[in-house]
Amino acid sequence: MEKSEIAALIENAEKLHGHLGPFLVIGVKMSLFAMKNLKVKNGDNLVVKAKLRAKTPYTCILDGIQATTSCTFGNRKLSLEETDSSEIIVKFVLKNNGKQATIQLRKEIVEYLNREMRPLKISDLELRKLAWEIAETPEEKLFTFETQ
Ligand SMILES: [Zn+2]
Repeated sequence: MEKSEIAALIENAEKLHGHLGPFLVIGVKMSLFAMKNLKVKNGDNLVVKAKLRAKTPYTCILDGIQATTSCTFGNRKLSLEETDSSEIIVKFVLKNNGKQATIQLRKEIVEYLNREMRPLKISDLELRKLAWEIAETPEEKLFTFETQ
């Protein structure tokens, strides 16, 4: 995918979400990575099951997923299982054949972002910088994945 296409998707997600931060971008990139692995171009045939801490900034991921896949809480194609663990795991399932891609955000990335974003007084400019840094990070460095 062209860099400019990813940028357009990130801007679209920002419009839905109201601001731009690294976890929003992670939601976008996770969705693109899953769709690539499942060989679908959009979320028509998908359901998404996210498992993460129900707290910002982690939940920003959910809007990245909603903006990119059109699987939303409203159409019930996105569900959230809350967890107390710092693990962030999102399962993308094809409705017609049950094929799925499970994407997990690497622990070192969660730790890195938690470090960079603490204290939460981080400026909007710094947050945007961090978001674009994540946008340019290769998928393999961000995620582990399993397909079945
Ligand atoms: Zn956010």
